[in-house]
Amino acid sequence: MIPGPFGYHRPASVGDAIKLLASLGEEARPLAGGHSLIPMMKLRLATPGHLVDLHGIAGLKGIHRDGNRIAIGAMTTQHELLASDEIRSSLPILQEAAALIADPQVRYRGTIGGNVANGDPGNDMPALMLTLGAAYRLEGPSGAREVMASDFYQGAYFTALEPGEILTSVTIPLPAAGHGYAYEKLKRKVGDYATAAAAVVLTMAGGKVASCAIGLTNLHETPLLAVDAANAVIGTSLDAASLKKAAAAAEAIMSPAADARGPVEYRKHVGGIMVTRALQRAAHRAK
Ligand SMILES: Cc1cc2nc3c(=O)[nH]c(=O)nc-3n(C[C@H](O)[C@H](O)[C@H](O)COP(=O)(O)OP(=O)(O)OC[C@H]3O[C@@H](n4cnc5c(N)ncnc54)[C@H](O)[C@@H]3O)c2cc1C
Repeated sequence: MIPGPFGYHRPASVGDAIKLLASLGEEARPLAGGHSLIPMMKLRLATPGHLVDLHGIAGLKGIHRDGNRIAIGAMTTQHELLASDEIRSSLPILQEAAALIADPQVRYRGTIGGNVANGDPGNDMPALMLTLGAAYRLEGPSGAREVMASDFYQGAYFTALEPGEILTSVTIPLPAAGHGYAYEKLKRKVGDYATAAAAVVLTMAGGKVASCAIGLTNLHETPLLAVDAANAVIGTSLDAASLKKAAAAAEAIMSPAADARGPVEYRKHVGGIMVTRALQRAAHRAK
């Protein structure tokens, strides 16, 4: 289908984008890679009167190390994450997950900012951001503020973004040296959103799990941090009993939609399996 009519604006700075969004009001939406927004517009599920294209703002791109944190500009594409040596060495789980998003064409255009700001439970990056303890920088008419990813998601397509605000960067604390990681994603075919997915970042000491965080994708209307599941494996050697406990604790907080990807019980069951596999693979990688 063809989108409805809209005005197109291409500001050159964050300040100009914020002014435009403020003056155009609720009719306006930021445009990043367009790989979620444009399909929604073609289906007429979104009908913004104006698009404020962020591609002209040079300062929104790039990956920078700042002490023990990595700052990623909102307009950095999935392809650029995959090509980055910094991400490969510091945050390899981002590359593992980015490679499982859609296909190369989508990854060339789709941005980290669009992926995390979109609020679609099927997006892969938000659960990773919860797992990694990321924070989002939001800039708007009232100034700039930092919101933890864990406080950002309020419901499907509902986030902490206020009208007129733009997410300008994502900041991720470096995981401990020697950490293990894994992103396990079950999908019906290449290019599909997750039927269920789990992210794990952990450290091991003396053959036992010393720290652990587990995030879940598309198993609730928001991404989830599975805190009880992570606690179930800390201090254990990831024996069969503790893996089973972790999967059960994760399943207990899942409430996926029943849709073409399967009924609720199936999606919860495979969600538990994704948690188990991600834990095992992360532990295997930990040094
Ligand atoms: C065939 C196909 C398969 C896909 N499969 C997957 C998948 O498996 N996993 C996955 O995670 N994604 C998938 N996607 C979605 C893709 O990753 C999108 O690129 C991503 O969801 C949105 O990023 P974007 O840069 O394209 O944002 P856009 O589509 O431009 O924007 C998305 C929304 O976020 C808002 N927005 C964008 N940037 C900002 C910002 N900086 N500040 C505030 N608001 C902003 C927009 O206004 C809009 O509401 C798929 C897309 C397609 C077309």
